[in-house]
Amino acid sequence: MAKKSLTEEAQEVFRAVALIELGARMQVLESELTLSRERLIRLYREVRGVSPPKGMLPFSADWYMPWLSNIHASLFFNTYLFLKNEASCSHLDALTKGYRLYLEHCTRNDAEPVLDLTRAWTLVRFFEAEMLQLTPCCRCTGKFVAHKHDLQHGVVCGACQPPSRAGKTRKAAARAAVQAFASVTDENVIDPAALPISAEAA
Ligand SMILES: [Zn+2]
Repeated sequence: MAKKSLTEEAQEVFRAVALIELGARMQVLESELTLSRERLIRLYREVRGVSPPKGMLPFSADWYMPWLSNIHASLFFNTYLFLKNEASCSHLDALTKGYRLYLEHCTRNDAEPVLDLTRAWTLVRFFEAEMLQLTPCCRCTGKFVAHKHDLQHGVVCGACQPPSRAGKTRKAAARAAVQAFASVTDENVIDPAALPISAEAA
């Protein structure tokens, strides 16, 4: 077993703290970091003041399909992809930075965050497992989360076509989200130079 240097270990601790602050569950921490379970539990208690919740992650890919969660998931995933592919972030960096940007977007638009960090992480896993795909909306051109093998042409996203039961506020929030996620896909809205990418991204 390779021994980690003190600096490497310190970096892992910082990454763990960042993830715990954003609400990561133990499963996320254990799968993303090389720290022992005992240390992760200790860190979790120090940061949040309580023991980590037990139990399995209950999420299925269907969770991302209803219109509101779909808009939020699409916004986050487009940001994640941008950070990973265009800004050359590592998977973990793209996850934490992408999730922070998502939360900032919600705050700016007075929208309650629907996607928690664990769901954001699970979403990336579903894409890696090729259970999900991005489908272009034929109205706003934003790319939204869909099941693999769903129709790819002439489809409209949930933000362009919210269900009639959705209230005015939620529709307004949806419009703001669609503008944001269409523009993330459109490129260059997030200036990589303006991002707080530190040496740890390397
Ligand atoms: Zn659309």
